Amino acid sequence: MASFSDPVRYLSGVGHEMARRLAKLEIRTIRDLLFHIPRSYLDRRTVTPIAFLRPNEEASILGTLASVRLERRLRGRRDVAGVVQDGTGALRIVWFNQPFVERLLRPGERYFFSGSVQPFRGLEMHNPEFEPDEEGAEHRNLARVAPVYGLTEGITQRWLRARVADALRSLSATPDPVPPEWRRAQALPGLREALAQVHFPERPEDAEPARRRLALEELLALQVSLQYARARHRGRRAARSLERGAPLAVRFRESLPFTLTRSQQEALAAIERDLDREVPMRRLLLGDVGSGKTVLALAAAVRAGGAGMQTAILAPTTLLAEQHAETAARLLGPAGLRFALLTAATPSKERDRIAAGVSSGETSLVIGTHALLERDLGFGSLGLVVVDEQHRFGVRQRVSLAAKGNGIQDAHLLVLTATPIPRSLAMTLYGDLDLSLLAEKPPGRAPVRTSFVRADGIEMLARVLGEETKRGGSAFVVYPVVEESETLDLKSAAAMAQKLARVGSLAEAGVVLVHGRLKPAERRLAIERFRSGEARILVATTVVEVGLDIPDATLIVIEHPERFGLAQLHQLRGRVGRADRPGRCVLLVGRAIGDVARKRLEIFRRVENGQELAEEDLKLRGPGELLGTSQHGFPEFRAVDPVADLDLIEAARGLAKEVLSKQEIEGDEARLKTWIEAHFAGAERYLESG
Ligand code: ADP
Ligand code: MG
Repeated sequence: MASFSDPVRYLSGVGHEMARRLAKLEIRTIRDLLFHIPRSYLDRRTVTPIAFLRPNEEASILGTLASVRLERRLRGRRDVAGVVQDGTGALRIVWFNQPFVERLLRPGERYFFSGSVQPFRGLEMHNPEFEPDEEGAEHRNLARVAPVYGLTEGITQRWLRARVADALRSLSATPDPVPPEWRRAQALPGLREALAQVHFPERPEDAEPARRRLALEELLALQVSLQYARARHRGRRAARSLERGAPLAVRFRESLPFTLTRSQQEALAAIERDLDREVPMRRLLLGDVGSGKTVLALAAAVRAGGAGMQTAILAPTTLLAEQHAETAARLLGPAGLRFALLTAATPSKERDRIAAGVSSGETSLVIGTHALLERDLGFGSLGLVVVDEQHRFGVRQRVSLAAKGNGIQDAHLLVLTATPIPRSLAMTLYGDLDLSLLAEKPPGRAPVRTSFVRADGIEMLARVLGEETKRGGSAFVVYPVVEESETLDLKSAAAMAQKLARVGSLAEAGVVLVHGRLKPAERRLAIERFRSGEARILVATTVVEVGLDIPDATLIVIEHPERFGLAQLHQLRGRVGRADRPGRCVLLVGRAIGDVARKRLEIFRRVENGQELAEEDLKLRGPGELLGTSQHGFPEFRAVDPVADLDLIEAARGLAKEVLSKQEIEGDEARLKTWIEAHFAGAERYLESG
């Protein structure tokens, strides 16, 4: 009998060399092997004679490959085409744009092909799954719907299938953590059955519920880790209730020059409930650019101030910190809250003065960059930390935050993010946080129309800008800056600003340039000229993305839009159409962009809602790429599909609570770790977050 955690060497047929090859597929234990989910299935239950094939059906055939060759197509595409014969007839088969397939096939040998039959040139089979008919009649009967695995050098489908079958046979009883009633309600199989069905389903349609059951296993382990860590931290930590600040908070709300939207009201109510408890708040506020998150953060700061406690608002960039400070200056007056802005640009004398105010408790609110934490800023009585992450997320970042001194662990924590992150990812990455979503925008925001313009020379751009300024509007022109060629990119932004300034009508409207390397004073001056309307064209690198609130801007032109992620593009587009004037977004697209990039930009043009956009992007690119491949903090699931499994992710949060409250593991960390290790290798590291 084998258990999940036994090494694969335990199986017969797996020696040192094969174990080494399996490790290349991240398969080290029996559990890894069983969670190596097939990438597709080959349906060999019914083999159809070629003469009986019908168009527009999925079918399997068994025959001899008569010929195969590579065919060159337009735009560098290469297809593989072959002919199969089976005694009743011959069929053309085609793989589109998968040239590597040709090397895997030998004319003269017998294969199964399984795919869709299409009415082209008579009939053709398109992009079929295939494998040599080498297993012999007996084994074929064992796996009539055969799993097709991701492989590596020196491992064949046949060999891997036999090892998986062996592992399933020798696996000892494994406790199933999911309550049977719940499982039945979701129409999901038990753990044991799921493992069998995901590899060797009786019918192809049985595989998907089985995969989902295994996905649930992984999600549950992650959620249990996160919730356990949170419960442990919270259990040890006591925050100060900020309830005494309620009267001041009410006064602040009444002094606002607008009424809060319904979703702002709901989110604020949730925040206030948290703040009034003596358990530290851990809450994520998710909302589009301009949805009104900062206002809520200020409302929370006022509540803290009213209760005699201090607040730190941390922004990812100096520019954004400055902008928060501006909003604070505008709105905090009536509440009489003393606040200070502290960034890298703050002169050291002033910094000392601010530090003194912070440690004496006289300053109620400090707004600054994340670097604020690095400094030895001694808070007299820190009650609330607001972290504006914009589009940086991940469990890891918060771990380092929690590790800092300054009594931050005892403070209430509110995380803001403007990244339109799919809900499934948010709930996974932030499994240990409570979620509030600002779904609607404040009223009076005009929609932004997006269009493509061919990027040929400067004429087109000059024309678009000219029309806009003639109409009385003002415009951003944005350049991407990618790290590898930062100098070059900056140069092109600067060169473009110069060229535009030489066009007569544009020179009249006024052109300014803003980028990350400008001295703060220069940058402020340029932005001020733009804000006042003295200059109506602002050429910039992406620095504008993270917070430049200019309500009058009507147009944003984006150069090389394919170099930005959809989330970034969305943030950029959110910079216009913020007042009552409708906004426009123009994407300058060159000839040489790829199909995937074009598809993404087309989605961006069509979809304006950030949340919807994020879901589309997730479907297109998957979580790794969506979040940026390295260090994104997204767990490496094997069975979870973050697009299809949103319901499971939600369910796992609730189920984890039940699992944790069960007698067996509560309060016994060693046992908990074993449990987690058995269900999702890697999840145990999340035990340390908080
Ligand atoms: P976010 O931080 O989510 O980007 P902000 O809080 O900065 O959004 O709000 C964007 C702008 O909208 C600010 O000028 C703010 O004063 C204004 N605003 C916020 N909430 C409302 C509301 N309910 N009604 C009208 N304007 C609002
Ligand atoms: Mg904001």
